[in-house]
Amino acid sequence: MLEIKDLHVKVKDKDILKGINLTVHPGELHAIMGRNGSGKSTLANAIAGQDSYEITSGDILFNGTSIVAESPEERALAGIFMSFQYPVIIPGVNNTYFLKAALNAKRKHQGKTELDAVEFLKLIREKLAVVEMDEKYLHRAVNDGFSGGEKKQNEILQMLTLEPALAILDETDSGLDIDALKIVAAGINNYRRDDRAIVIITHYQRILKYLEADYVHVLINGKIAKTGGENLAEQLEDKGYSWLDN
Ligand code: ADP
Ligand code: MG
Repeated sequence: MLEIKDLHVKVKDKDILKGINLTVHPGELHAIMGRNGSGKSTLANAIAGQDSYEITSGDILFNGTSIVAESPEERALAGIFMSFQYPVIIPGVNNTYFLKAALNAKRKHQGKTELDAVEFLKLIREKLAVVEMDEKYLHRAVNDGFSGGEKKQNEILQMLTLEPALAILDETDSGLDIDALKIVAAGINNYRRDDRAIVIITHYQRILKYLEADYVHVLINGKIAKTGGENLAEQLEDKGYSWLDN
């Protein structure tokens, strides 16, 4: 589904990613770990197509097609979703309206009929139940006045509503208390299917206790320094990252 080949990315004239190779198949969950500043969000943003991240060489293929020349919205319509490390507040844009417009844009692209208000409300209520969010959050502006945890739950709500093929989750577990962490993990597990894939960026092994990661990768200084299974995350919890420096 996703194939990243020798990817080099520059941010504001600084080389951040220095040759990333990563292959993600449908059904898989990959965790990416690494110190602050190692380039994890840069990788997520490069996949999503944020234009301040300049790809200087290498390629990103989604379902066999290079996407590096595509806009973020084209990538989103094709089935890529990214949850932000720092979800933005969008004042004046109602959360329901935002979710409905995004979903219907995607349905239109897929040649499906758009959902009307009644159909959408039925769907969104099911999704809200998964992330244990109250309906009142639908009536506020996107993320406006949401706590850190509620913003992350709202990101998961977006993912569940849009049903992307590939979800890139950037520190969706950061800043969550234990109850919110369990809810977010349940949302991710609810989304998981054989034809969908997840790349989750995290600092902590704790969310991986609730998810079954197929692979854990460690990003050090813009490169994947080590790949392993869930036990690699446990090792990192014990030993930190320094044993992987060279
Ligand atoms: P991580 O997510 O692993 O903490 P990032 O990908 O956010 O790391 O950042 C990697 C490096 O790139 C850091 O040194 C950071 O300061 C730099 N960087 C990222 N985004 C920007 C930006 N928009 N402007 C300037 N520097 C940036
Ligand atoms: Mg980051």
